Order: sequence, then C-alpha cells, then structure tokens
Amino acid sequence: MNNNPDSVILREDTKVVVSGRDSKSFGGMVNPPVYHGSTVLAESVAEYNTRHDSRLNDEQVMVYGTMGNPTGWALENAIAELEGGYNCATYSSGLAAIAVALMAFLKSGDHLLMTDSTYAPTRRFCDSVLKRFGVETTYYDPLIGAEIKSLLRPNTAVVFTESPGSHTFEVQDIPSIAEVAHQHGAIVQMDNTWASPLYFKPFEHGVDISIQAVTKYIVGHSDVLLGSVTTTKEHWKTLRDCTWHFGQCVAPDDLYLAQRGLRTMAVRLRQHHKSSLKIAEWLSNRAEVRQVLYPALPGAPGHEIWKRDFLGASGLFGVELKPFSQKAVEKMIDEMRLFGIGSSWGGYESLMLPSNVRDIRTASPWRFEGPLLRLHIGLEDVDDLKDDLKDGLERIRNFGG
Ligand SMILES: *Cc1c(COP(=O)(O)O)cnc(C)c1O
Repeated sequence: MNNNPDSVILREDTKVVVSGRDSKSFGGMVNPPVYHGSTVLAESVAEYNTRHDSRLNDEQVMVYGTMGNPTGWALENAIAELEGGYNCATYSSGLAAIAVALMAFLKSGDHLLMTDSTYAPTRRFCDSVLKRFGVETTYYDPLIGAEIKSLLRPNTAVVFTESPGSHTFEVQDIPSIAEVAHQHGAIVQMDNTWASPLYFKPFEHGVDISIQAVTKYIVGHSDVLLGSVTTTKEHWKTLRDCTWHFGQCVAPDDLYLAQRGLRTMAVRLRQHHKSSLKIAEWLSNRAEVRQVLYPALPGAPGHEIWKRDFLGASGLFGVELKPFSQKAVEKMIDEMRLFGIGSSWGGYESLMLPSNVRDIRTASPWRFEGPLLRLHIGLEDVDDLKDDLKDGLERIRNFGG
C-alpha cells in the first residue's frame, strides 16, 4: 500500500531508494528477508480468525502464502508509491497481470476498447479467452485521442491503452482518452511498461489501472518474470479479490530480486535514456534510415505528447529503414556483435529484432514504408554500440539482391 500519499514530499530518486522499505521489522536489515512459506501458524483459533479479518481489511499481516508476505509487500508498496496509485498486486508475469486486470473489470456482454498497438499476447488474450467469455473487443487506432468517443458504447466497460506501443511507438493522448472514457462510465487501463513507474505517472493523467511488466526495467537484469497491477482506491478491492480468486501469487525469490532491481532503477533508466537519445540522433542522420521512432527525439512521431506527459524515456525504440529487403535486414541482425537477438527488454543488455507486426493490425493505417527494427539500448558504452550499428547498416547497404 502507498503509505506516503502526501505526508513528506520526496524527490524521485529518493523514493526509489526508500519506498516500501521497513527495516525496523527486520531487526535493522536494509533489505527484506525472503519469506518462503505456505502455512502461517496462529496462536489460537481466535488469532487465526483475526488475522483473516485483518487481511481482508488490507492490513499487511501474513495469513497464507497466496495472500502475501513481507517480501512481496516491500515491492508492491514501492510500486504503488512510485506510480502514484493506492495499492499494487503482483503476478507471475506481465502477461498474467494484464489477464487478471482485464478479467477483474469485464463480464459477459461487456465491450472492450483495445489499442491496435497493444502487446501481441494481450491481443491474443482478448481474441481467445475474453471472446469465449462473451466480451467483445474493438481495436482502435492508438492515435485516436478524444475521437474515441465515436467507438464508446453503453456497454463499454474498459478502454485499454499502451503508450508508446512497444513495436511502432505511437504515443497516445491518455488524458483525452481518459476524459471521454470516464464521461461514458468506462475505466481506463494502461500498460505502462515502456515508461516504467518513473517516467509516466498514470494516475495524474486519468488512468484507473496501471500495469507493469516488472520483468523489464524494475527487474532490470533479464533474470525474473513478474508483473504488477496498481489501482486507485476506488478499484482496489475488485482487482485484489480477482487476484485472489485466480490464486495469483509470486515466488518469494523472484519478489526479492525485483525489489532489489528496483533500488537501482533510477540510475539505470537515466543511462538508458541518455544512450538511447545519442544513438537515436546518430541513426536519424544515417542514409539507410527513413526515421527513428524514439518519442524523446525532437521531431520524432509523438514527441510533442511525450514532452507534455512523460518525465523521461527508456531504452526501447524503433527504426524505420529505407525499403531494403527482409533478407538484407536479417544479414544485419544475424552478425551484430553486441545486440542480442531475443524477446523482452529492460535488462542491462542491448537487443535487436525485426518488427513484423503489420499483419496483426486491424484498426489503424500502416504508417511505414520500409522494414522496422526494434532496438533495446543497454548499458554498454555508446560508442561500441554505434560501431556495431555502423557495421550492421553497411551490411544492409552492401547486401546483394
Ligand atoms: C514484455 C511485455 C509484457 C509482458 O511481460 P512478461 O513478463 O514477459 O509476460 C507486457 N507488455 C509489454 C509492453 C511488454 O513489453
């Protein structure tokens, strides 16, 4: 729970260090112990019952393994505070967090508005599970803004946003979407993974439910899968109860590693931002590149809204190349020295993938002519990354046929 709503105003870097910490309870230990356990023993039946009642009232007392322990609360309290929400629940992956957030607020007969730029597995969840349970999904152009009014129906319960999209990097006008959604009685959910809890404050922009793939920047080391959902006070019980109904809980070692990663997130993100901006600027001047899709780059798509709403930028962005063949692009990627080929991002290492999402989009115009690359800029030396990219772009240019 966010125990520091407005008592002391701390600056962001300090909050990353102190939020969720409770060393008094652990004999002075800086970090929380890792609580392994299912059963929690009570002194008496009366105490057993009291504990259950307290837990239902959101007191952070141990009742049973699935209902939380201090290792998890250290992380959840910190995320809730950093995102500026009321309380936070954690899940076994980012995708599990999204699935529970949607299931908690939708029922048979409801209508869901989902951004066309959403993370592909989110889309598959809507098209399979939600469809089977009688929830209709309409995909919308991520750049729709207040025009989303025309798509809202009396039974629209949730408007789901993700900004920027993690392949095409459209920056959504979240405040406009939220205003219209609320006028129509719908709630706004957001996949806020790209910005992390530090660089976009969802609840200041009208979001009701904010989701993190904690796997990415909070964990920061590519060694844990974890998700979180943070809500306003109004929506907390609905989310919490659904989480418990699904038996969603996270292994304590993973919770520990995530809160450990969190403590260095501010400095890591600053470096991701700085290095990414340098590389984005450099790429935008290369002859092989049509445009760079990094919202923090002046002149890039979405830059104006990014500047208005975001406090920084992370290390993931897109590059639209001139119309080279897919084979030439593969030649570039296959022989990179420092950029690994793999899913996910947010770790300390650089990654590169071709972005092939055109065929799954159904609601928005395809805004690109050339092939798209997706880069994650890690914490390596920027000049080494540039050397690697320079050689890669030359491989594309020199690729025969
Ligand atoms: C990776 C990712 C997820 C899912 O996180 P997992 O922990 O891998 O399940 C959700 N949303 C976005 C934008 C992501 O990049």
